[in-house]
Amino acid sequence: MSKIKSVKAREILASGGAPTLEVEVVTEDGYVGEASVSYGASAGSLEATVLLDGDKSRYNGKGMLIARENVNNTLAKLVMSMEVSEQRMIDEKMIDLDGTENKSKLGGNAILGVSMAVARAAAAEKELELYEYLGMTHDLEKAAKLPKPMIVMIEGGKHADETTDLQEFCVSAMGNKTARENVRMEMEVYEELKKILKREGLSINVGNEGAFAPNGIISNEKPMEYLVEAIKNAGYGPGIDAGISIDAAASEFFNLQSSIYNLQIENKKISSEELIEYYGQWIGKYPFVSWEDMLSEFDWESWPKLLEKIGGKFPLIADDLTVTNTKLWQKAIEQKAADAILIKLNQAGSVTETIDCCLLAKKNGLWTVPSHRGGGETNDAFMVDLAVAVGSEYIKAGPTRGERVCKYNRLMRIEELINQSSNSNLQSSE
Ligand code: PEP
Ligand code: MG
Repeated sequence: MSKIKSVKAREILASGGAPTLEVEVVTEDGYVGEASVSYGASAGSLEATVLLDGDKSRYNGKGMLIARENVNNTLAKLVMSMEVSEQRMIDEKMIDLDGTENKSKLGGNAILGVSMAVARAAAAEKELELYEYLGMTHDLEKAAKLPKPMIVMIEGGKHADETTDLQEFCVSAMGNKTARENVRMEMEVYEELKKILKREGLSINVGNEGAFAPNGIISNEKPMEYLVEAIKNAGYGPGIDAGISIDAAASEFFNLQSSIYNLQIENKKISSEELIEYYGQWIGKYPFVSWEDMLSEFDWESWPKLLEKIGGKFPLIADDLTVTNTKLWQKAIEQKAADAILIKLNQAGSVTETIDCCLLAKKNGLWTVPSHRGGGETNDAFMVDLAVAVGSEYIKAGPTRGERVCKYNRLMRIEELINQSSNSNLQSSE
């Protein structure tokens, strides 16, 4: 048992070059927890607030000094002397003090930073890895399998400039390989994809998430052809070793007034029904592992129609639609709008709410996919430990750049730790 002695936040840089928060929690017994907070480029409208200063003289208004002070003064006082292992109580106190639906008063960034750092300090106090601690405190059985990588290989939409309307084209590992083998396979596919893009006269420059972001791709379907070819060229079986996951991030090309989707690169302005037909042609043609946000978060009524069209062949993941929010996720499950959920800690704004959302998925036998953020990612790999703790099916992140590869490096490390501990258990039982 160890009480919180100090909480300190600082402004650091996130992957896009604008600030974010890093928070440090120290207990009376000297245990330390550190965490940093990410945020998105194509954020859902109901996400927890990223509280920005708005002072144009600093970082073009994107400074986080107000959020920092909210941690250093208000939240620090609030949680001081609380038991660091009382995660739920600490999170609830912060949420209550904020008092708004979307954490707009103190900032989701401020609250989440403290919440994550508290979890790390508590894990340190118990001399546990974060994934062990998170799993243990929520009575989760040790996941039988580690999450598989869903790696963004080509990106467009708001994550790049003048490329596909759809935002992410991923390769998702399939089969029973180890995490380390899955990572290797995917990076070999990435290398083959690079050769294909070069052959096609396309740029191999990368976008926000470290995936290729070539201008001049002629359709939203083309990347999927490239991905299938790259999987084959790397010596793997499409639909056997690896498949395709796409995230349309469709809220970004949906016009709220006209309810029309604008597929700019194909010069198509189409209704929800037409978009569902358009997507429908791809089913059976490509080895899909999942689809995500294929329709706008403002087009709830169309989601069940798409889910029906997919007919259980692969999951339809909700991201902007449900923003890691238990109430919205419950609604999506009840309305049969989606049958899997993307998990982003900063959408929820606290560790407890994020885990509750995952547990609701598990209770319903549905997938959870913890994810990186497109706009401002950090070198914090908390999402990977979370994924292991709750037994997620996949983790989604980009293939290159430090803030992305640290997620896969953490996954491989966890695999090693789990193998070591099961080996030592075997030895001690001999
Ligand atoms: C996503 O939409 O899944 C994503 C990673 O993008 P962002 O963080 O920009 O919302
Ligand atoms: Mg998404």
